[in-house]
This record gives sequence, C-alpha cells and structure tokens, in this order.
Amino acid sequence: MNGRPLPPSRDLRLVHVDARERQSVVSLRPGGPSFGGEELAICAGPCAIESREQIVATAAAVARAGANVLRGGAFKPRTSPYSFQGLGREGLAMMREAADLYGLAVVTEVLDPRDADVVAESAEMLQIGARNMQNTALLRAVGETGKPVLLKRGLAATVDEWLLAAEYIALTGNERIVLCERGVRSFDPATRNLLDLSVVPLLARRTHLPAIVDPSHGTGVAGLVAAMGLAAVAAGAAGIMVEVHPDPASAVSDGMQSLTFAEFDTFMESMPAVAAAVGRRLPQRFAGVPLNAIPPS
Ligand code: PEP
Ligand code: MN
Repeated sequence: MNGRPLPPSRDLRLVHVDARERQSVVSLRPGGPSFGGEELAICAGPCAIESREQIVATAAAVARAGANVLRGGAFKPRTSPYSFQGLGREGLAMMREAADLYGLAVVTEVLDPRDADVVAESAEMLQIGARNMQNTALLRAVGETGKPVLLKRGLAATVDEWLLAAEYIALTGNERIVLCERGVRSFDPATRNLLDLSVVPLLARRTHLPAIVDPSHGTGVAGLVAAMGLAAVAAGAAGIMVEVHPDPASAVSDGMQSLTFAEFDTFMESMPAVAAAVGRRLPQRFAGVPLNAIPPS
C-alpha cells in the first residue's frame, strides 16, 4: 500500500498527482491571493450580490477580518425559476468596485458559456457551481478564458467524476484549477449537505490541484460554519469559502447559512492558531490598502 487506497481513473492524466513534481499553487495575481501555498486563501462574501451598499459593506467587513478574496453571485443557479436570479452584469460591476476599494480579488460563478468572457473581464477567478460540475461545454468555456477556475464538487459527484471534470478544464491548456468541497447530498436533512472533509487529504493523494472547503453550503447552518471551517484548515485545505451578509435575516438567498460581520470576525480570530498547527498562515495584509482606510463594520 503506497498511501493510495483506490486506484484512480486512468483518464486522470493532467490533473493526476504524478503529472507534476509537486503540488500546484494557483495565484490570482502577482503577490496576491494564492491557493496551495503557505498562505491560506480566505474567500468570503454574500451568497448573492443584492445591492451596491450590501456588497461594499461586506467587502469592507471581510477585508478587515482578514479575507483576501470577495465572493458573491451575480448569476445565481437557483433551484426555483421564480427565485431571485442575480443582478447579472450590473452585479459584476458592483462587486468589482467593492473589491477594488478594499484590495480584494473576486471569485464569481459563471452559469452560461456565453457569459464566460464577460465574467472573466471583471473577476480574477471563475466559479463553476455544484449544479454545473459536469456541464462540459461550460467547463471548456471557462478553461478557455485562461483565468483561474474554482470547481465545486457536484451535489452527488464521486471524487473521480470531480477530477475528470477538472481534467476537461485542464485539457483547454488552463491548469489553474482549484477544487472546492461544498458537501454532498445525504439521507439526513439535519444539515443541508454532508460536508466531506475526508476528501481534503484524499485529494492531495490523487491530484496536484489545491482544494478549499465551503462550510456554508456544506452545512447550511450558520452556527456550524466556524467549526467546520477550522476543521477544513486542520485537514489541510488551501483555504475556505464562507458566506457573510450584513443582515442574514434579510438575505435574498442562503441567509440561514450566512455569518454576520461579527460572527465572521470571531471565526477569523480563531483561525491563525489552527493554520499554524498545519504550517499555514492567514493572508498578509493586502498591499496598497492601509487598514485604516477600511471603516469599522
Ligand atoms: C455558491 O457558492 O454561490 C453556490 C451556488 O454554491 P454551490 O454551487 O456549491 O451550491
Ligand atoms: Mn449560497
């Protein structure tokens, strides 16, 4: 036994752990956020961009607490076609402005191959959501933008299926791919999904790609997010993705799992000790934006 309990699919070629001499580090910009190095990537923000005020206030709060990537959906994959579908291009512009005010990078979801280029113009990283993990046309389209891609695990995807989806992106010549565990469907409605933290060390044996964890969608319960976020870092995750909202009770989507600014602050305060225990550290203060330029939340 060489530490690989199951033989991986033979079609995992480009993303296979043996395809590179060492684990990959995916950087969003020079000196900026990166995934897979010593520094953690802390991606935080609302489920959906709702207004300029909401995204600017959230960007300020998460930057102040130590995040380096602003998350938020402009194109939302909603279960019901009658639910809010996102602000689209207007939302992208609002998020870009908010991120720039506080020195943050942007990660946001692409739902339609026709939007890949427009999203790539205003975001450092393109997200493929759980519902689209096997949308091969979309995987090719985001790969072809050349931008880093955050590939979420499908709602019921096996590790091999997930890595083969990453292989589709890699085949476009773009290997700047980060995996994101966000929980899988389970029999138990006590949590929204079943957060599979065992994949974090497992992925490190199967692929050179870095992996982060989203404990917000992974649990669906705000009170469980901090514990599972810390556990994710302890398990070796290269970062986390967390939903934060100025007023979770009035959020248009995913309010139940969104942290308040104060909750996010407390969570981030407990992070350095856990990170240090596994040889990682929090993002350094972003260059160019003095902390005193960030208003208190
Ligand atoms: C999201 O991150 O906004 C999202 C929709 O997550 P998922 O695709 O994991 O459900
Ligand atoms: Mn959400």
